[in-house]
Amino acid sequence: MRALIVGIGQCGTKIADLFALVDFEALAINTSKSDLEYLRHIPRERRILIGESLTGGKGVNANPVLGREAMKRDLPLVMRKIKLMSGYEDVDIFFLTFGFGGGTGAGGTPVLAEALKEEYPDSLVVAIGALPLREEGIRPTINAAITIDKLSKFADSIIAIDNNKLREAGVGITRAYEKINYTIVERIASLLALIDIPGEQTLDASDLKFVLKAFGSFATVGYAKAEADKIKSLSRLILKSFENEGLYLDANIESALYGLVAIHGPPEVLKANEIFEALDYLIQKIKGKQIFRGFYPDSREREVEVVTLLSGIYESKSIEDIILTAKRYAQSFMRAKEEAKLKKRELLSGLPDFDDLYP
Ligand code: GDP
Repeated sequence: MRALIVGIGQCGTKIADLFALVDFEALAINTSKSDLEYLRHIPRERRILIGESLTGGKGVNANPVLGREAMKRDLPLVMRKIKLMSGYEDVDIFFLTFGFGGGTGAGGTPVLAEALKEEYPDSLVVAIGALPLREEGIRPTINAAITIDKLSKFADSIIAIDNNKLREAGVGITRAYEKINYTIVERIASLLALIDIPGEQTLDASDLKFVLKAFGSFATVGYAKAEADKIKSLSRLILKSFENEGLYLDANIESALYGLVAIHGPPEVLKANEIFEALDYLIQKIKGKQIFRGFYPDSREREVEVVTLLSGIYESKSIEDIILTAKRYAQSFMRAKEEAKLKKRELLSGLPDFDDLYP
């Protein structure tokens, strides 16, 4: 399976840079020249500065309208670079990484997603975006709401990472982001590493694409790991990977359409009856009733690792909070604007033009 990672904006390019570190093909796009310089693993020829005519290479200051415009202006350049990079071999999935709360990523990602879907109709476009921390205030929340709305029209799935959920207490923000980014890359990489491994009951690219082709709804990745000789119940471990702590998003997993479970570990622990017990339970639990599975017995392994993916999710508290906050803000802002207009009219009405005073 071939995945191509495209990072947009500061958050997105940092995540893409980590994907490059673990040998994924990655591209970085930003409106800020200095942020592009700062990357360590993506080669220079795969870093694209966009919107220079608009911002002079200084970034868009968390304004997604400018981010959108920057991507639109330089879209031909970006698409040429992607064509060059993809070469003659098909790309199964484009993963677009970005931060929902900023400007370049939030504004530019939906524009790129639309263009990629048009140019590569057989490839999937999956967005991986970090949701803003509540403490960042109202602007990032509004940027996120706008971007969720736009992206859901073009992306096949949106893997939203709730920074609020992953952030550890007492850790500084830079360190916290670094850790979150590592977690994202590690989990997605461990999922992709299990695709196309030869075997009797393994997952292939078409299974993964089926699960992720979910009309712009949300998807989330879960994970659980334990030492093989300490496992009391494998089915419990599988279910744990689906529990909320394992996932990046506060979501009602019962609203999911599709699921995917990959289990890797020593063959004596991967007992079919325990696996099927957990899978039957999950199939009953999710709305779409479809779970793809992959078993990876490995006699060298001392640990059992479970990676899960749920897609087609539309019930998520993390997302609802953002949309409702943005709606409430929009309503109160419009009310305040109307009041201001009214007040202005009231205040100025009846005021003559005083022309007689200055003949
Ligand atoms: P842009 O460069 O204009 O696209 O803006 P950023 O990428 O800096 O996006 C800002 C948003 O992304 C903020 O709401 C942050 O919560 C989030 N963010 C910024 N950097 C990181 C990061 O390294 N990791 C994660 N998980 N989130 C980040």
